[in-house]
Amino acid sequence: MIERDFPPLPLRLCAFARVIFFFFLFLSPAFAARVERLIDNWRPEHYTVNLTLNDQLSEIASAQATINILILKQTTLIDLDFGELTTDKVTLNSKSLTFTHKDGKLDVTLPAPAKPGTRLTLVVDYHGKPKDGLILTADKDGKPAAIGDNWPNRVHHWIPSLDHPSAKAAVTFNVTAPANQEVVANGRLVHVETTGNGQRTWTFSEGAPIPPYCMIIGVGQFARLEPSERALTPMSYYVPLSDREFALKGFSPAIPTVEFFTKTVAQYPYEKLALIVGATRFGGMENSSAIVFTSTMFNRNSQAGLSKTYGVPFNNVTLIAHEIAHQWFGDSVTESTWSDVWLSEGFATYFAGLFVQRYEGEEAFRKYMAGAANNVFAYEKKARTPIFDRDTENLLAILNANSYQKGAWVLHMLRSSLGDDAFFRGIRNYYEAHKNATASTEDLRVALEKASGKDLRSFFARWVYDSGHPQYELQWYWLGQKELRVVLTQTQPGNLFSDPVPITISTASGKREVVLKPTGKLFIERIPLREKPTSLEVDPQNVLLDEATVKGS
Ligand SMILES: [Zn+2]
Repeated sequence: MIERDFPPLPLRLCAFARVIFFFFLFLSPAFAARVERLIDNWRPEHYTVNLTLNDQLSEIASAQATINILILKQTTLIDLDFGELTTDKVTLNSKSLTFTHKDGKLDVTLPAPAKPGTRLTLVVDYHGKPKDGLILTADKDGKPAAIGDNWPNRVHHWIPSLDHPSAKAAVTFNVTAPANQEVVANGRLVHVETTGNGQRTWTFSEGAPIPPYCMIIGVGQFARLEPSERALTPMSYYVPLSDREFALKGFSPAIPTVEFFTKTVAQYPYEKLALIVGATRFGGMENSSAIVFTSTMFNRNSQAGLSKTYGVPFNNVTLIAHEIAHQWFGDSVTESTWSDVWLSEGFATYFAGLFVQRYEGEEAFRKYMAGAANNVFAYEKKARTPIFDRDTENLLAILNANSYQKGAWVLHMLRSSLGDDAFFRGIRNYYEAHKNATASTEDLRVALEKASGKDLRSFFARWVYDSGHPQYELQWYWLGQKELRVVLTQTQPGNLFSDPVPITISTASGKREVVLKPTGKLFIERIPLREKPTSLEVDPQNVLLDEATVKGS
């Protein structure tokens, strides 16, 4: 199952990451200590995680993780990320191994050097109360619940793992909990067994490799509902009992969302889709096939009004569409490094926008994208950093308007300039080439270049690897003599944006579109024109992420 989906390890990625690391090591002492942990000597292929929760769901009474590992370089060390739980033993072929467990690392020494290509099965026995990752808390009704919430690298607080998004693996959970609890996890429900002591063991299996931050279980006294409409994948909703009456309507955008992304991108990547309301640090967390939404989801006021299509808060439509879009982008095609996180968040943000465009209409989409642009403008007042941000020391800080809204705008601008046909063909090719694997920003550029036949290096260099957005000042002068002079100044700090700038010239007898192709931050063009303009407008169709002012006489 695993081998089928895994491409060979992209060595280019490892080399690239090392280059980044040494770049910072020598050039910037502030980053000297930072290492983004990437796959090096070994990689996990499959986790089987057996968890027995105590009756109060307040701790893991006992756990065993069986980790199938592929050795990539000769090594005697398997260095797992593992938090503060107590490690009882580590075994290989039933023989105990020596290990050290401290500072978030479980270093296991193999009895002999393992050669590249070797497959090993390590078994780690452990127990305790996780400090993070598996949130053991009451649900909104005060009933005990256990919900995984791992983004960005918090899964190692409850599963010994290689806790980096690129270390994707399949996962099987065997969760034993009191019989009155409902359990959900990634993937297919294989079976439920009643065991002694009033407990049940639930087995869920996710066959596709998923990023570790998407590996979850949810345990609680949920109301479990299934929509009556036909869906492209088995759908179920797990909500606190007091949310039972809201769930079917509240989640009603989900089925058309799955359909829309299936048509637009590719087949839904997983065995089922569970939508869960429970503990998460975020508004929604896109765990593969088992999304968790915040507990207040059905109680919140709708600042953005109600959806005209679904009659639920508009913000919930975009939230549901965003998290479901992640199943393709982020979960199935996963960012290679944290610097590439916009391939997850920018895509989810834009594809939620595409769903809005299709189901809520052009006006709602226009507002959604304008709101996104305002977020970017506000963020850039505080931080002038590129979307592809090499500073990933503080991972929560990379959840910002660059990775979300500006990333979405980059996709929107590419769609506008390449046209729907080439853009969506490129996106589908990109998805197909990297599904169940990882992708880099360069992989996206190459896929869109192949689909469009256009060279996108300078676009990516300016918009993704550099910071800011164009701030245009358009000054126009009517010279008489049937000639208009326009002076387009780019006032943003930093480099020129050489994107073509559409302008509309209005005169008493009509409108005319002209495209300026700036070659410098100060750009002058003479335009033949029969009569004096009444007004000029920059970027009338809103195809650029820009701010503009116009003056003229
Ligand atoms: Zn997201």
